Amino acid sequence: MPMCWLISEGDSHKPIRLPHQQTVVLGRGPETTIKDKKCSRHQDSVVVGKDKEVKMKAGQQLLIVNQLYPYTIQFKEDAARDHGGTKRPPELSSEDRESRRQESSLKVAKQSESGHEEATKSSESFGHWSQGLKTSMQDPKMQIYKDDKVVVIKDKYPKARYHWLVLPWQTISSLKALSKEHCDLVKHMQQVADQMVQQCPDANSLRFRMGYHAIPSMSQVHLHVISQDFDSPCLKNKKHWNSFTTDYFMESQDVIQMLETNGRVDVKEGTSELLKLPLRCHICRKDIPTIPALKEHLKSHFPS
Ligand code: AMP
Ligand code: ZN
Repeated sequence: MPMCWLISEGDSHKPIRLPHQQTVVLGRGPETTIKDKKCSRHQDSVVVGKDKEVKMKAGQQLLIVNQLYPYTIQFKEDAARDHGGTKRPPELSSEDRESRRQESSLKVAKQSESGHEEATKSSESFGHWSQGLKTSMQDPKMQIYKDDKVVVIKDKYPKARYHWLVLPWQTISSLKALSKEHCDLVKHMQQVADQMVQQCPDANSLRFRMGYHAIPSMSQVHLHVISQDFDSPCLKNKKHWNSFTTDYFMESQDVIQMLETNGRVDVKEGTSELLKLPLRCHICRKDIPTIPALKEHLKSHFPS
């Protein structure tokens, strides 16, 4: 049976295991590292009230303490039992979790004044979340442009006002699988990305970048075309931010050049560490302490 974990979106503590059909109390305490006095009821797109039961899909967000502490739930096979190794909590991005097709029932059984809440859960099995782009790219409802070589879809969890993905029809798992023979294809992906930007109604007021995540989480190579406002509720954590604003984001032009020159795409050692860098505004380079503060700051650069 898969194990269920409660994941702190802010990475403020390790995943908390939710044992099968056992009550787990959430709130202030060392396990959640939450110290705020104002613990309030659960709020989310999934509304959980006192004595009420709701179904939560894995990856759906649960916010506690005045919406300051976001959580998602995630299922993972028991690695210790399956492989005889040490138990390890899962390390997946929120999109990964959101891509999973599993559900859990979360019941708030009790809620004290301090906001401590008790929950029970049950789980079902899940599919291959990392293949989600392959499914989306074949879905006519997701496709916004296609030709004989590539398809463009909207990113399901956009990190900005405009966020598209350009994918080749040809199965290519990741940047690592690219070689010189893919040069024309990758240039074509760039051209299509340029066209997407040109037809955007806000192309005059917004800047766009086109590039690849050096270490992608989803299978099938995909070019991100993303406006630089980063004005989106799906942008939730430091990993999201740094994946688009540090060298973790590899410019399409640089990837093309690497392929032309070396016949392969090299990802520098230590690239994954870039995701842990402090938050910094990509416009004025100011250091910003938290994601909510960063979102507030971005409003000054990109008024709605
Ligand atoms: P990465 O693999 O890190 O380059 O990012 C994968 C991107 O795919 C993210 O921007 C996600 O928001 C997006 N994504 C995840 N699942 C899906 C899906 N099923 N359909 C469309 N976009 C998705
Ligand atoms: Zn700034």
